[in-house]
Amino acid sequence: MKKSETVKSYLSLIPPVHKILNFPEVQKLIDQYGQLVVVSSIRSILADYRNTIKCETRINNEIFSVEEIIKLLKKNINLQTQDSLIPILNLSGIILHSNFGRALLPKLALKKIEKVLGSSYNIEYDVDTGKRRDREYHIESKLCHLLGAEAVTIVNNNAAAVMLVLNTLARRKEVIISRGELIEIGGSFRLPDIMKSSNCILKEIGTTNRTNLSDYEDAVKPKTGLIFKAYWSNFTINGYTKSVDEKDLVSLSKKTNLPFVIDLGSGTAIDLRKIGLKFEPTPYEKLKLGVDLVTFSGDKLMGGPQCGIIAGRADLINKINKNAMKRAMRCDKFTIAALYSILKIYQDPKKAIKEIPTLRFLDRTKVDIKEQAERIYSKIEPFFRHKMKVKIINCFSQIGSGTLPNLSIPSVGICFQQNTKKNNGLFPMKFAKKLRKLPTPVIGRINDGAFVLDLRCLEKDIDLIKPLQSLKLDEDF
Ligand SMILES: *Cc1c(COP(=O)(O)O)cnc(C)c1O
Repeated sequence: MKKSETVKSYLSLIPPVHKILNFPEVQKLIDQYGQLVVVSSIRSILADYRNTIKCETRINNEIFSVEEIIKLLKKNINLQTQDSLIPILNLSGIILHSNFGRALLPKLALKKIEKVLGSSYNIEYDVDTGKRRDREYHIESKLCHLLGAEAVTIVNNNAAAVMLVLNTLARRKEVIISRGELIEIGGSFRLPDIMKSSNCILKEIGTTNRTNLSDYEDAVKPKTGLIFKAYWSNFTINGYTKSVDEKDLVSLSKKTNLPFVIDLGSGTAIDLRKIGLKFEPTPYEKLKLGVDLVTFSGDKLMGGPQCGIIAGRADLINKINKNAMKRAMRCDKFTIAALYSILKIYQDPKKAIKEIPTLRFLDRTKVDIKEQAERIYSKIEPFFRHKMKVKIINCFSQIGSGTLPNLSIPSVGICFQQNTKKNNGLFPMKFAKKLRKLPTPVIGRINDGAFVLDLRCLEKDIDLIKPLQSLKLDEDF
């Protein structure tokens, strides 16, 4: 038989959709999952069949049996209907993990969001006058106060904030930036590309490791739009380095009448020295120094919802708000409600450290985490004793999401190591996979041939004890 005829004859063996729908077993699936899901699953399976017939040389006739089709159908429906958005237990030691959604919102914010989203609210409405009012009204004065800023505005994230600032203040003009600050952070935020998309001309100066004030001064031309600085949020350069004092850049910007903007990446609303951490410059201090605008993310150290905050000179913020791009980047009411609650909490900084999860995790002492580790260890060690070595270890947490990349925060973890050489060094990977398969996956990290759960972000002992006790450790371990 010719190839095309073979294909044709195999294609004729594929049962039509309406026939499959009449199988009693399929009727049951329709009752359970609905016609739409079942039909689309059948279609996708039959499309796969056609592909296989066209591409493969040998076809097993068994694939056309009712049993085989129903088996595939169940598998496909399962994939279509299972929950893809599920909670995980982040014991990776990275407090703000971009893959896990960065900052966790405090309970108060969650309650507010639920209320604001479930009923009509005065989002953009002044009940006194009965007129429209800007949605940022709810966050404006609190945020200004917290940051010591003349004016603020918010957009969907910090990438948007940077684009909006550049596009508003330096469209078709040159933006002066040191070569050492042409950063890329995760999720394809690359400053040269952001500049291009914002319709700005990148004017790079200095070298990767050293930039002088004279480099800035020489670069100022009539076509210059602004002076820009980006913080190294996810790397460091050590050794023979030099950057220009921000005070000098403030003077230069005043002298040349060019705005000076800093992308801080992660802004902290409170001084982190209060919770024993290395100093991270606050937006407050930068603005006090005379920087015209700062931008930063709401869901990094601030511990709030995803958003980009722009703070500084009122005349510049005014211009930004008039840019048509602003409307395309404006925050939704989820964000307004969440940020509003966060800002209310920040009105009392002591309360903020207790109630905002990001700050609470950062504030935990090693002693506190160690006590927790001991409690958990005593409950779980008997379950693992005959299979692997379990011990309490000292480890280091990191802030994550490109925040203070050099900072390791002393913490305590539970470490799992293999007893024998059975797994050829694959033990930590296998154990990590086993924990990822739990209904609420537990995420740790692999360190020196062992698997470690850093307890810094564990709020309740039971959240870890229960899943660990439920593990069925087969003979692989
Ligand atoms: C994180 C970060 C950004 C991007 O912020 P998103 O809120 O993720 O858009 C931009 N610049 C710097 C320096 C950052 O650290």
